[in-house]
Amino acid sequence: MAGFSDIEQRLQERERQNRYRQRRVVESPQGRTLQIDGRQLLNFCGNDYLGLAGDARVRAAFKQGIDDWGAGSGAAHLVCGHSKPHHELEEAIAEFTGRPRCLLFSSGYAANLGVINGLLSVGDHVFEDRLNHASLLDGGWISRAEFQWFDHCDIDDLSAKLAVHAKNDGRKLIVSDGTFSMDGDLCLLNDLVRLGHQHGAWIMIDDAHGFGVHGTEGRGIVNREQFSVDDVQILVGTLGKAFGTHGAFVAGSEEMIETLIQKARTYVFSTALPPSCAVATLTSLEILRSEEWRRDRLRDHVQQFRQGAKQIGLSVMPSESPIQPVLVGTEQAALSISAQLEELGILVTPIRPPTVPIGSSRLRITLTAGHREEDVDHLLGALEACAATVQAIA
Ligand SMILES: *Cc1c(COP(=O)(O)O)cnc(C)c1O
Repeated sequence: MAGFSDIEQRLQERERQNRYRQRRVVESPQGRTLQIDGRQLLNFCGNDYLGLAGDARVRAAFKQGIDDWGAGSGAAHLVCGHSKPHHELEEAIAEFTGRPRCLLFSSGYAANLGVINGLLSVGDHVFEDRLNHASLLDGGWISRAEFQWFDHCDIDDLSAKLAVHAKNDGRKLIVSDGTFSMDGDLCLLNDLVRLGHQHGAWIMIDDAHGFGVHGTEGRGIVNREQFSVDDVQILVGTLGKAFGTHGAFVAGSEEMIETLIQKARTYVFSTALPPSCAVATLTSLEILRSEEWRRDRLRDHVQQFRQGAKQIGLSVMPSESPIQPVLVGTEQAALSISAQLEELGILVTPIRPPTVPIGSSRLRITLTAGHREEDVDHLLGALEACAATVQAIA
């Protein structure tokens, strides 16, 4: 029996494949620059799209929240951990998303696991885009529903797979990222909704990277397309990205949310977020909605980056989001270019399999409203300096 005797060998194998991951110790708060190993680096890999993680008003609200509500929530929501700030935040987000109800979770990962597992079981069917976030895939797998992939944004493939199961009873759930986290492209929402109606399936959209970024007041892609709760029955967002804080929410009908309160295990059996985090998020929600200039600036940076990248001959992916990946192919290429960029004062963590499909290692560049025009120029200059390597490998 091998047991765990090969544990070290497996690690070495991972290292040989250039897939070994290492954490970097960040010595400064999140923001436009990060200090690592004593050096200031321009940060082009975070998800703090609106620059709110370091915002003075959000920080002040967090501190006030601690003074008013203490450090921890003390218990799960169903025991005695569901405080007034949690409740207010749920109501504010329900209004923001145009849904009757909303439920807070401790993380996006927990939300996705809890929702799918809470709503589906043996005899049901879940259809997932191949590039969905790991938490959506895991949620589908542990639910014990029959799991079916469809090719990335391939509506014909999804349609064919739904047709195969047309006569089956049981619940059918179509699950997709709103903005795909590693590619930056958007799901084909109109088509998903049409297929949902046609097959009596529910649609679950995880718009973790869309809230704060797309739509009026940053209400995300579902609201931008004006889809109601009858079209997209389950809407997920996270608070650790554009909101700049921590946690996640699920929005939908009264009955759906009540079902999750009864049955979502990651909700029932997990301590509520600190109330101070909900207080801070109420403030960041206000800023996110009202300060349109942050989205304008973000869009400008995306434009500037895409134009500049094309000029230096880099192939950019079809993304209108702040996620602007540069594909480089092999793990080795991603590691080496990331190291070169770091030499030039730029932090872009290499993204490799299994996070992305084999052969599609990339630099997942992200832009934020916290960047300045000259930062984007600096990034482009550094990429140009590495361009020979980038192209040789791409
Ligand atoms: C980041 C992310 C999550 C996980 O959210 P956390 O709050 O970080 O656990 C879920 N879904 C998508 C699409 C994400 O990008």
